[in-house]
Amino acid sequence: MNLPSTIAIDGPAASGKSTLAERLANKLNYLYFDTGVMYRVVTWLALDRGLSMDEEEMITKLSQLVQIDVQSPSKEDGRAYDVLADGEDLTWKIRRPEVDANVSVVAAFPGVREALTVQQRCIGQRGQVVMVGRDIGTVVLPDADLKIYLDASVEERSRRRYDECIARGEEITLESILDAMRKRDQIDSTRDVAPLRAAEDAVIIDSDGLGIEKVLEITIDLARGKGQ
Ligand code: C5P
Repeated sequence: MNLPSTIAIDGPAASGKSTLAERLANKLNYLYFDTGVMYRVVTWLALDRGLSMDEEEMITKLSQLVQIDVQSPSKEDGRAYDVLADGEDLTWKIRRPEVDANVSVVAAFPGVREALTVQQRCIGQRGQVVMVGRDIGTVVLPDADLKIYLDASVEERSRRRYDECIARGEEITLESILDAMRKRDQIDSTRDVAPLRAAEDAVIIDSDGLGIEKVLEITIDLARGKGQ
């Protein structure tokens, strides 16, 4: 069967992209690569070093120097993979609310995007990959064989993120998540470089009210060339 070799999945925060991509990659025996972790690592490192989010030059330097690795999970604590920055395990640290609150600012810096996009493209061009992000179909892999744009309402996405945080034992309110999610959407979709948007040739799937199984089924049909 002729399957697409490069699959790009874009969409806003908590639209279900990562779960979809991971399941799809497992099914096809492809590499699953979530590009959001790279922006999160740079944001965590900046916060950890006490940098202010307007120190663009320093943060850009960080993004150029750090060696980010995504590897098979070393622990059974719910992680899908290990995220290492210069060998340090940052898998859970990059999911903290302070990273959520600042990552879009860091991801809007052109120099940071340039540094990380180069690495993402190298991985993507090897093929047999499901790559997830905001600009994969538009900028990182504009020639991807299949492009999916997974959407959902901000209310549903915030509810999903809230349930995840509560399950991890974090103390947080739904209102604060909704508020942060709206701000992040706004910054991600209006930035000058590589804003969040569906590529012209992307298939848009609205996942409101659809379970992951259904979304996966639709995507597999598309990958097999049935759904188009
Ligand atoms: O997907 P995730 O929520 O982990 O992404 C975190 C942030 O990283 C996004 O809100 C966005 O600002 C940025 N990002 C990006 N381009 C990508 C992936 C993520 O700008 N390809």
